[in-house]
Amino acid sequence: MTDYYMARKRLVERLKMEGIIRSKEVERAMLTVPRELFVPDHYRDYAYIDSPLPIGHGQTISAPHMVALMTELLNLKEGMKVLEVGTGSGYQAAIIAEIVAPKNSRNPGKVITIERIPELAEFAKRNLTRAGYIDRVKIIVGDGTLGYPPEAPYDRIIVTAAAPDIPKPLLEQLKPGGRMVIPVGSKYMQYIYVVDKTPSGKIIITKDIPCLFVPLIGKYGWKEHS
Ligand code: SAM
Repeated sequence: MTDYYMARKRLVERLKMEGIIRSKEVERAMLTVPRELFVPDHYRDYAYIDSPLPIGHGQTISAPHMVALMTELLNLKEGMKVLEVGTGSGYQAAIIAEIVAPKNSRNPGKVITIERIPELAEFAKRNLTRAGYIDRVKIIVGDGTLGYPPEAPYDRIIVTAAAPDIPKPLLEQLKPGGRMVIPVGSKYMQYIYVVDKTPSGKIIITKDIPCLFVPLIGKYGWKEHS
């Protein structure tokens, strides 16, 4: 029987030593959210290997270091409203919820997450329910490249699939003073972009590390069979 908490603690210590986890908020979230509840049951014992894992439908749950790195770049605060594009397993959404809407928060924020594959949205719903985050995360099935106007604008937007370019609707739905973290590039290699919208609406893009994500498929992403 694997001691999942000990395995999680060891992984978090390693990510801290590697300089990937830098803040108390991300450390606490990564220590709290049980990743073993977000992978298919037969992969549970691999949940604390720092690697992406298949979740079906040709998709993956991202590696813990990538989740930690993107969450650090988001610079989240309690009370924020965050849009995630690419729900997958629901794990990244739970990590964000743990920071913006911790249990018993007096000023809880929320997470809206969009997934294009209905079966994965169901998988995420099951995972978020059993891990205790479904009250703080709203799952939408649809094309996330269009954003989600009913809840806009957002303090933060995170895209967890590879975009050919920054989708225009997402830029429009970002609050002035807000930030988006998104992998942009070809289908075979991307860079994490940090996109800041200044209070006056100016867009500033900073290129971070190289990465490899599954493609973002949709109106402002890649075409399905391209
Ligand atoms: N954040 C996820 C997690 O924590 O498990 C991992 C996301 S996985 C790398 C990328 C996901 O983006 C896949 O589930 C894929 O179906 C989804 N996706 C791709 N294009 C999308 C789109 N236009 N709108 C919403 N989801 C999309």
